[in-house]
Amino acid sequence: MIPMNLLAGGTADYVHTGEWAKKAIKEAKLFGTVNVAGSSEDKNFCYIPAQKWSANAKYAHITSNETIGGIQWRVYPDTGSVPLVADMSSDIFCRPIDVSRFGLIYAGAQKNIGPSGVTLVIIRKDLVENGASGLTTMLSYKPYAENDSMYNTPPTFGIYMIKLVMEWMEAQGGVAAIYEKNKEKAKLLYSCIDTLDMYQGTANPVDRSLMNVTFRLKSEDLETLFLKEASAAGFVGLKGHRSVGGCRASIYNAMTLDHIKVLISFMEDFAKKNA
Ligand SMILES: *Cc1c(COP(=O)(O)O)cnc(C)c1O
Repeated sequence: MIPMNLLAGGTADYVHTGEWAKKAIKEAKLFGTVNVAGSSEDKNFCYIPAQKWSANAKYAHITSNETIGGIQWRVYPDTGSVPLVADMSSDIFCRPIDVSRFGLIYAGAQKNIGPSGVTLVIIRKDLVENGASGLTTMLSYKPYAENDSMYNTPPTFGIYMIKLVMEWMEAQGGVAAIYEKNKEKAKLLYSCIDTLDMYQGTANPVDRSLMNVTFRLKSEDLETLFLKEASAAGFVGLKGHRSVGGCRASIYNAMTLDHIKVLISFMEDFAKKNA
């Protein structure tokens, strides 16, 4: 919908940081020209690349967190008068952000917001106003904006669940407090990886994600054993994405500090047993 509404034959800058950026680029190419303003493909997307923005872009697109490589933008780029567009599906609400710096933010609900089936879009009013015309109603932002996101019947059950998640976040002190917890969770886990010889983090340290912690073990055999024992101990989804292998701990907002501590103690035991 973004290229459909905002690109319409023009050029847009995209930073290629991994699988999600790649998918966004593919879709954008259907509606205009994509300038890849930076790419970390040379190192299997283990870092956030430097950017070279074009002056006449309709917008500049980033993926704030890449779940597979386990990298995250720490500081959002300054794109001047070019609207910054971000796919925040996997890290929205993990930390406070200055929404006014963005032209458009979008995020699928299923990671930090609530159940799948709902998508959040925050879009600047002028981008809604100046969006392409002649689009089908459901693929244009205007009818959503003009009808309080209820042009058609919205998925009410998903939205009700999101209300409960928002209340759960507020009860903990809101996004600022959640950010503190997330930093603590990630710090403990990364320091376990950095301290023990058994594990090696795969993301560039300054670009490490607060949400997806990617690491490898000393050998593939040990990785297989680690995943097997982890699964038997009740840990879910520690296997890295098939495109990169290795291991990945996804520690979205719903994961508590206690969960992380249990994982770390499992990792310490495993390292000791297989030293
Ligand atoms: C998970 C994720 C998606 C995928 O959402 P789907 O609704 O499964 O297509 C898109 N972008 C990012 C950055 C993600 O982390």
